[in-house]
Amino acid sequence: MSETKTDQDSVGNYIDGQWTDATGSDGMDVVDPATGETLSYVGFSTENDVDDAVRQGQKAFESWSQRSIEERIQPLFELKTLLEENIDELAELLVREHGKTFGEAKGELRRGIENVETACGMPTLMQAGHVENAAPNIDETAVRKPLGVFAAVTPFNFPGMIPLWFLPYAVASGNSFILKPSERDPLTAKRLFELIDEAGFPDGVVQLVNGSVDTVNAILDHDGIEGVSFVGSTPVAKTIYERAAANGKRVQAQGGAKNHIVVSETADLEFAARKSVSSALACGGERCLANDVICVEESVYEEFVDLVVDIAGDQTVGHGLDGETDVGALITPEHEERVRNYVETGVQEGATLVLDGRDIEVDGYEDGNFLGPCVFRDVTEDMVISREEIFGPVLGLMPVADVDEGIDVMNASDFGNAASLFTGSGAEARNFRHDARAGNLAVNAGTAAPMAFFHFGGQKDSFFGDLHAQAEDVVRFYTDETVYIERWPDA
Ligand code: NAD
Repeated sequence: MSETKTDQDSVGNYIDGQWTDATGSDGMDVVDPATGETLSYVGFSTENDVDDAVRQGQKAFESWSQRSIEERIQPLFELKTLLEENIDELAELLVREHGKTFGEAKGELRRGIENVETACGMPTLMQAGHVENAAPNIDETAVRKPLGVFAAVTPFNFPGMIPLWFLPYAVASGNSFILKPSERDPLTAKRLFELIDEAGFPDGVVQLVNGSVDTVNAILDHDGIEGVSFVGSTPVAKTIYERAAANGKRVQAQGGAKNHIVVSETADLEFAARKSVSSALACGGERCLANDVICVEESVYEEFVDLVVDIAGDQTVGHGLDGETDVGALITPEHEERVRNYVETGVQEGATLVLDGRDIEVDGYEDGNFLGPCVFRDVTEDMVISREEIFGPVLGLMPVADVDEGIDVMNASDFGNAASLFTGSGAEARNFRHDARAGNLAVNAGTAAPMAFFHFGGQKDSFFGDLHAQAEDVVRFYTDETVYIERWPDA
């Protein structure tokens, strides 16, 4: 059992430009998943803490929303510079509390910075439209206006990137913003807010409130919050969507996933196998974009299975700060246990475990939450391991008659976050683009992750709402359009 550290090591809230302790009686240790060492303690915020942040946010909104857009994006330019200057230190912190590799941590921070850069284009993103002579002698103009205080509730798996899918756009468009990060790895957000403090936002415009379920419920129920962005598991996303909507709020709720790859016999098989393994195993498989069911045309199935087993078997499991490591630690012992149970379920269901990473031992890190890559072959559509999100380094291979059958398999999934096709045929690529039902589709790329200047969001049980994260979609989420109709009879 880990020992709780003293108050100065704890993670506080950032409200009205000041660091303060959450006043709730609950909290939890922040633990390094690779070593089991306690890094810090995060206290949970009460309804009063949330209310305090909302009031300060409302106060700040009055003047912030009146500033010119040019003025509002200046702190974001500063934040970009600070993030660039501190990226290595942030990445190391992220590895320590999350367990992924240093390269993966740096990569996610890059994607976060990309969102800050994109939001600096707010003078263009906020433009809505103008038509002269919309009716005889009448001109009409649509104007996007900020609404007030918004909040985002984010998951553990990308603590450096996901808050930045929302924060820069919310504030550049003139709103104030409250972040409630995952309680499992809140140190990256804490450091991010230290940089935000330096970047020069007025007090109350950007705030941090730590906590768990009760804190989230206080956000969902607070009258002063206009809208909530959520990213996390599907059952929670659905609850958040329903509760926030019932309270009259805007809500965008991104949920869990189960993503597929289809491999055509026309594909470059070696390339497809490398990309498939990296898609399934990167960040220990703890990614909503991990493609972990690979549907392979029968004619090349045996060859592809051998390639995948070889490549996955070559991955080095270890501490994320060790340069040799390909697959880091899983977030908690409980989550490791959950993933191991899925592996056992796969065996019980009759899939063949051709690579078994369950006996992994990482020298010097006996208390870490490690699981080596596990590869199943002959997975079928009805198996639990091909239907439910596992969120670990586990990959399933399924033979299909042709690419069309592979697309049918992915379309039958309850989820629709992402999908990839590996092919050498333009006709197959076109059919995939037209027929596959997922929010992010990739051809000859293992992970369908859009750049920040495109929106990011899934379909089916992977998303509840309409406007997604990032880019213009999220700007529309954070603004309301007023239409001005103008006539000057003397003109
Ligand atoms: P989670 O749902 O357990 O937690 C997400 C957030 O919700 C956290 O801040 C947590 O404090 C809060 N929360 C948890 N339970 C709650 C409850 N009952 N009521 C209110 N709030 C609650 O998710 P996680 O384990 O942190 O993250 C992993 C999940 O997130 C996976 O399912 C993954 O697919 C998903 N995810 C989705 C996307 C996407 O874009 N669709 C991106 C990243 C992660």
